[in-house]
Amino acid sequence: MIKLAPGLSIKKSQINGRGCFATRSFERRKKIAEYTGERISDQEAQRRARGRFHLRICDIDGKWSLDGARGGNGTHYINHSCDPNAYMQTLYGHVLFFALRDIKAGEEITIDYDQTLLPDSRRCHCGAKNCRGTINKLS
Ligand SMILES: [Zn+2]
Repeated sequence: MIKLAPGLSIKKSQINGRGCFATRSFERRKKIAEYTGERISDQEAQRRARGRFHLRICDIDGKWSLDGARGGNGTHYINHSCDPNAYMQTLYGHVLFFALRDIKAGEEITIDYDQTLLPDSRRCHCGAKNCRGTINKLS
């Protein structure tokens, strides 16, 4: 069993598989939670990322990554949306999620993955009006 960060729950998502949902409201720009997981090298991250869809692996600084599938607190279930309500920021080696706008209890928490280890052909099914059709932002 995973120990969830306070204010979060894991439920079935319309976007993809299971997602991370707020159990309380989060104010705009306030911290939601920290991404936790096993600390691994980026080389190991590349190896583990193959075939995974969720945000299981998170790059800290281009050298180290965190694997939320081991020791994660639920934030690794945060799905991608092209119209997200949260964003991720790395601060002093910590990966933190902040609310992009006010989030109500019961809402699914989403971020824009932007760049992932997934292939660029991976389709997005977030359902946002401005959905770009792919998970990765293609240049
Ligand atoms: Zn989309």
